Amino acid sequence: DASSVSSPTARSEALFARARAVTPGGVNSPVRAFRSVGGTPRFIAHADGAYLTDADGTTYLDYIGSWGPMILGHNHPGVREAITQALQGGTSFGAPGEREVQLAEQVTRLTGTERVRFVNSGTEATMSALRLARGATGRKFIVKFRGNYHGHADGLLVEAGSGLLTNADSLGNAAPSSAGVPEDYARLTLVSEYNDPAALDALMAARGHEIAAVIFEPVVGNAGVLMPTPEFLAALHRVKASGALLIADEVMTGFRLSLRGATGLLGLEPDLICWGKIIGGGLPVGAYGGRADVMDFVSPQGPVYQAGTLSGNPLAMAAGLATLQALEADPGLYARLDAYTAALAGGLREAAREAGVAISINHIGSMLTAFFQDAPDGSLRTYTDAARSDTAAFARWFQGLLARGVYWAPSQFESIFVSGMHSDAELGLTLDAAQAAFAEVGGA
Ligand code: PMP
Repeated sequence: DASSVSSPTARSEALFARARAVTPGGVNSPVRAFRSVGGTPRFIAHADGAYLTDADGTTYLDYIGSWGPMILGHNHPGVREAITQALQGGTSFGAPGEREVQLAEQVTRLTGTERVRFVNSGTEATMSALRLARGATGRKFIVKFRGNYHGHADGLLVEAGSGLLTNADSLGNAAPSSAGVPEDYARLTLVSEYNDPAALDALMAARGHEIAAVIFEPVVGNAGVLMPTPEFLAALHRVKASGALLIADEVMTGFRLSLRGATGLLGLEPDLICWGKIIGGGLPVGAYGGRADVMDFVSPQGPVYQAGTLSGNPLAMAAGLATLQALEADPGLYARLDAYTAALAGGLREAAREAGVAISINHIGSMLTAFFQDAPDGSLRTYTDAARSDTAAFARWFQGLLARGVYWAPSQFESIFVSGMHSDAELGLTLDAAQAAFAEVGGA
């Protein structure tokens, strides 16, 4: 067999070459291409529990969990069984079915919302929630925070052109962060700094009357993990006084940080919540929901149009329902995830110290980022803080882990995700690999 005499990634390399010939950059979502860490992206053949197996037959301990959905681990028997059962009855109807009702009942009950609408991705959820907010308020502008990611809708691919916002005239001025997003759209998105309550208060004082919604990650995962301060959360709740709707983007944190998401864990009271990832149990599902008086603006009940050929898909609903049922049936799971992640943080801290490598760890629940910079653990609060990290050192560490069979998130500015299938053996494997990988970073 040719691959046994060539490189251990020969098949992934061959697939990557074929993929590049037919797909931009060879991937269907950018971070998968390993651009910021280098090396060959592993093409995954199958996954089970806490492990991924690539096209060359190498097995990796997985810390991506499909970027969040796989909180129960891969190929969970209950989820597989639910999908298999749904499959027997046909894959799509374009008409309502019972599973959509069951999942909606489950989601509203768990999250304390009254109405939910299912879509097919997190991007669709945030995009639709913003249209709803504009339709419900009759206002044009939205506010987002620098370094928060809410999917790839035009108005959300915007970040601040400068750092802190201090001048009332330029409050919130921002530029598109992607080609193809007209300035005219970007103009309607105002950007403020995460964890800066004074900046948010000033922005709302100046422009609150024209703002339809403030959208935020209740715990940031998309700049690496950043925790909100209580003062910032209080400022977020103050925006409601201006008539703007507060939208918690729980695509990453929903059903991950607790059964009630970050909203439950942190005691938030948003007007709307967006979900994705776990709510689909590994199939393409997003959702947005909230109080009936707001959600009833959505068509056909109200004037805000939003639709989807595959929305409420029976296989996807079955996977989501089985996942949420499994989470609810295992009340100790979240405590186990917390304990694993805390032990991982402690072990990484110790290993980095021994190797003389500076890292700063932020973690909550089953989300964790090790930032390669010299700062006290938990002290990094903003995108600007995160951006000071040594991405070259991170890339060396990532490669050291991968070479030892541990598949960490391939970017400094991402969270890793622990699943219920990560246990003592996985912790030991990770810390052994991390220790060796830190030694390589330090020696460089
Ligand atoms: N919001 C947040 C907070 C996310 O983390 C993501 C995806 N990582 C999205 C929205 C977009 O979701 P999707 O990739 O399913 O479109």
